[in-house]
Amino acid sequence: MQSESSHYDFVVIGAGIAGASVAAELAADADVLLLEAESQPGYHSTGRSAAMYVPAYGPPAIRALTRASGPFFQSPPDGFSETPLLHQRNILMIAREDQRDATAEFIADAGGDVALQMVEGDGLAAVQPLLRSGYATHGVIDSSGSEIDVNALHRGFLRLMKSRGGRLVTGRPVATLRRAAGIWHISAGDREFRTPVIINAAGAWADEIGRMAGAEVIGLVPKRRTAVMIAAPPDIDSDRMPMTIDMEEGFYLKPESGQFLVSPANEDPMPPCDVQPDELDVAICLDRIERAFDMPISRPQSKWAGLRSFVADKTPVAGFSDVVDGFFWLAGQGGYGIQTSPALARVAACLAQRMALPSDIVAEGVNVDMLVPARLQSGVPVSDYLV
Ligand SMILES: Cc1cc2nc3c(=O)[nH]c(=O)nc-3n(C[C@H](O)[C@H](O)[C@H](O)COP(=O)(O)OP(=O)(O)OC[C@H]3O[C@@H](n4cnc5c(N)ncnc54)[C@H](O)[C@@H]3O)c2cc1C
Repeated sequence: MQSESSHYDFVVIGAGIAGASVAAELAADADVLLLEAESQPGYHSTGRSAAMYVPAYGPPAIRALTRASGPFFQSPPDGFSETPLLHQRNILMIAREDQRDATAEFIADAGGDVALQMVEGDGLAAVQPLLRSGYATHGVIDSSGSEIDVNALHRGFLRLMKSRGGRLVTGRPVATLRRAAGIWHISAGDREFRTPVIINAAGAWADEIGRMAGAEVIGLVPKRRTAVMIAAPPDIDSDRMPMTIDMEEGFYLKPESGQFLVSPANEDPMPPCDVQPDELDVAICLDRIERAFDMPISRPQSKWAGLRSFVADKTPVAGFSDVVDGFFWLAGQGGYGIQTSPALARVAACLAQRMALPSDIVAEGVNVDMLVPARLQSGVPVSDYLV
């Protein structure tokens, strides 16, 4: 092993959106190292998302964090990004007659947070002209959705971190963690780094990093989601169409520069890995799209899969371990880690520095108890969730 070893106030493990954003926040007041296993940051979940900001999506804590992130997306700090981070994109939730109960549930759940507009029968065709006649009987339009420029957001956080004196080291997978006399010794590749506080932002690998540290297991379950790009019909203006989602999330279709990103919205549990799309999922996806939409389905132009990692209550974990000192969890962002990243990073940076949460985020309904790892030790049986 090389003799060089460096000391930091915080070492953040994982340079996806979670690690990059919290490292940028922490670097305002502290010496920060952001440590990434891959040669490029953003190679895993962050680089594989559907890039949507949907304030009506997810459990209450997610919706609160998403709302609290809105002002950052609308006006990021000077120099953060040369291009806007958000581009407005309506969301259309579609439903068959047998999904009326699901529609009522969705409206009861999300209707308090965002303005929703119900459309019935022919009104649907006006909003989504590609819908197959007779497939859906009604829909709900949510005009609070946007597309996120994920690359600009991720690069913006990395740039902000560096401008504040933080350091990014890539291509160094953390292999062992050892704590002695109040200091973590982190061996990563041929290097050793030291810090009193580790921030575990390792995405699907967060429980593995926790095990290395001797921390509690949070019961993280990485779930594969598959995405496929197909050509949009040439004679339509697809870019003006809403992102169209099955009311029970059986599939979605999102316009993207003359193509459609389609997904069967699958959630297949699997170990953390460089996940690849499964051909069966691709076939299921195209079948569901063909049933709902009246258009020629071309051969996929590209396809990929990514992991969405959840704990039992589908709410992120942000807080210090109760088992080992100086070990901070930032994990379990599931399918919402991009849209919640600005607010969640501020929350995590405050908690890691043992400061009170920012008042604007508390005002949206976020509190410490909904995020701390201790909530997972008593309550929801994780085994039920895995079935
Ligand atoms: C198909 C799909 C669609 C999605 N759509 C959306 C969406 O529309 N909106 C939204 O908000 N979210 C969406 N998500 C979810 C979002 O992508 C994730 O919540 C988010 O990217 C998680 O970020 P992360 O930084 O925690 O994880 P990651 O991006 O996976 O980063 C974790 C990093 O930790 C590193 N790491 C792991 N182990 C080690 C180690 N031992 N040493 C050093 N580094 C390590 C990994 O290499 C990785 O780079 C989607 C996800 C998928 C898969």
